[in-house]
Amino acid sequence: MQHHEAIVIGAGPCGLSAAIELKQAGIEPLIIEKHCVVHSIYRYPTNMQFFSTPKLLEIGNIPFTTTNDKPYRKEALVYYLTVARHYDLQIQSYEEVTAIRKQEDGLFLASTTTTNGEQRTYSARYVIVATGYFDHPNMLGIPGEDLPHVTHYFEEAHPYAGTTVTIIGGNNSAVDAALELQRVGAKVRIIYRGAEISPRIKPWVRPTFESLIQKGEIEMHFSAQVTAIHPGEITVTTHDGTATSRDSQFVLILTGFRPDRELIEGAGVKLQDEDKEKPVFDPDTMLTNVEGLYVAGVIASGRDANEIFIESGRHHGKLIADHIIAYR
Ligand SMILES: Cc1cc2nc3c(=O)[nH]c(=O)nc-3n(C[C@H](O)[C@H](O)[C@H](O)COP(=O)(O)OP(=O)(O)OC[C@H]3O[C@@H](n4cnc5c(N)ncnc54)[C@H](O)[C@@H]3O)c2cc1C
Repeated sequence: MQHHEAIVIGAGPCGLSAAIELKQAGIEPLIIEKHCVVHSIYRYPTNMQFFSTPKLLEIGNIPFTTTNDKPYRKEALVYYLTVARHYDLQIQSYEEVTAIRKQEDGLFLASTTTTNGEQRTYSARYVIVATGYFDHPNMLGIPGEDLPHVTHYFEEAHPYAGTTVTIIGGNNSAVDAALELQRVGAKVRIIYRGAEISPRIKPWVRPTFESLIQKGEIEMHFSAQVTAIHPGEITVTTHDGTATSRDSQFVLILTGFRPDRELIEGAGVKLQDEDKEKPVFDPDTMLTNVEGLYVAGVIASGRDANEIFIESGRHHGKLIADHIIAYR
């Protein structure tokens, strides 16, 4: 069994940032990542452009310069990988942490499974959980959600050219996908439960989106929900309860993600009374109710998983490192 003073779970931007802060404070952490470095960004739509400027995505004081005012996914992949290499972070990738248990001697045991099925155990004095949310899409719980022509992840428009696609959702992911699909000649329909265009839509994208709706190039249904999905067809129910069937070769459910709390709850972390999805932690130190166990990044968010993003979550690591150094 390997021992490390600190283990960071998850090599997303916030986990990497936490590991760098610890390293700079004199603690050499091990990062355990179940996929690859910044796997969430890797899985984002291929042509995605961030809404943040590069400056606000920087970690470890390494400048992030891009050709446009907002970085593209590919630039962010290169940037975070470069930062990880620059700091020579110790990253154990393709290994999933399946349980964290605190022992009587105060040390944590982290159980893992590698992609080839090997089981391992690590011990650590401090554990920083930075597992994000991208592996857990918000499920609608409607019939047909698991059919093969339905996905919660949009990659790129090309495969959908010339087909009929229904997008469920009305935030940036839905709008970006709709624009890309319209460009390749897909027949795009958006079903959104909101009564109007979301105020969260990137301001530089909104005019084009509105114009395409007005021209009928994108079919937009407000105050409506998809209540069932069948092969080649969906059922749309409006706010007054009217249900109609519409043809649809593909369905993209782009309704966001929520962090999985199983790992931290299994380690004894409690959830807050006011927001049953938010872990109990001190926002000044990110320390949970379990001594030595910290949260960093989106895992610290509550019901609204978008309350924390890279811009804000990248600062959690400094709070954690300062606290560990002060009370070590
Ligand atoms: C399309 C899209 C666009 C966005 N644009 C922006 C933007 O412009 N600006 C911004 O600030 N934010 C943006 N966000 C939000 C941002 O991507 C997230 O807030 C950010 O990824 C959170 O970072 P994180 O490190 O907390 O989690 P993640 O990036 O999700 O990283 C978590 C990591 O933990 C790993 N992991 C999970 N469970 C385990 C386990 N049990 N064992 C080991 N490893 C595990 C995962 O594989 C993953 O690599 C966007 C999000 C989306 C979906």
